[in-house]
Amino acid sequence: MTADIIDGKAFAAGLRDRITVQVAAFRQATGRAPGLAVVLVGEDPASAVYVRNKGKATIAAGMASFEYRLPADLDQADLTALVETLNADPAVDGILVQLPLPPQIDDRAVLLAIDPDKDVDGFHPLNVGRLATGVPGFVSCTPLGCLALLKDRLGDLAGLDAVVIGRSNIVGKPMVQLLIAESCTVTVAHSKTRNLSSVVRRADIVIAAVGRPALIKGDWIKPGAVVIDVGLNRTELGLVGDVDFAGAASVASAITPVPGGVGPMTIAYLLRNTLISACRRAGVDLADDTL
Ligand code: NAP
Repeated sequence: MTADIIDGKAFAAGLRDRITVQVAAFRQATGRAPGLAVVLVGEDPASAVYVRNKGKATIAAGMASFEYRLPADLDQADLTALVETLNADPAVDGILVQLPLPPQIDDRAVLLAIDPDKDVDGFHPLNVGRLATGVPGFVSCTPLGCLALLKDRLGDLAGLDAVVIGRSNIVGKPMVQLLIAESCTVTVAHSKTRNLSSVVRRADIVIAAVGRPALIKGDWIKPGAVVIDVGLNRTELGLVGDVDFAGAASVASAITPVPGGVGPMTIAYLLRNTLISACRRAGVDLADDTL
């Protein structure tokens, strides 16, 4: 193996420490804790784990965590009413509705109901449009985490060839927008892409966000490329990414592991977005401009 391992767990721990310091300053200044409300509908086991981890991390950072666990047969109207209550609650700075939602719920309508200024997941169309047009707003946490790891490794990304494999609203598309804003030359690949191997082979930066175990082969990677593996796939061998790790690590200059790469960054950026929301809403200046 020649690649350096990008330690997302350590990077995220450092970020969370800085957030915790800023949360304490916020509490001192305002007499209240930044608050994150997380809504889980139904019993999806993976979603339940994510929600539990988000709640624990929120409390560990000194923030207030409000968790709502609702039955799988919940009405659209009841979920919208809860979101509207949270929009109006001054103790809540961030609202996250855990996806996926059960089939009777129109998730686009739920995301539209969230106050864009409390949309710490960055999924509201207004925040998506802000990102696309370069206006400050909330940006989806996983792509933010990927970008932070890339910039930490590479510094200025301008002019680099980046390939994003996956075009979902929550990972692929916002990742593309962030890389365009960094002046990368960006290619987006998806399930209809022809000759994926040759598309990947020309990239200095590879971001895999597909959900297919080891889809991206080691011999597709350009020597010296930086590989960010967003995929989380539960297999008989345990949790694996979208990239053939051993193969890619023998040619890349740096690569994120799964687990311990992008995953911890997502939660850290959720806390960061919640803190920023709290500061904006309370008119408090953040003293740490590295957040
Ligand atoms: P998604 O909504 O299912 O999107 C998957 C994307 O991959 C789609 O754009 C799809 O193309 C594309 N795709 C599927 N098969 C392909 C193939 N054979 N070749 C090329 N592209 C292909 O998934 P997501 O929500 O973006 O998540 C992607 C992965 O990231 C999942 O493993 C998920 O668990 C993981 N994830 C991790 C974190 C984290 O914190 N680490 C956060 C979010 C997601 P089409 O658009 O053409 O269908």
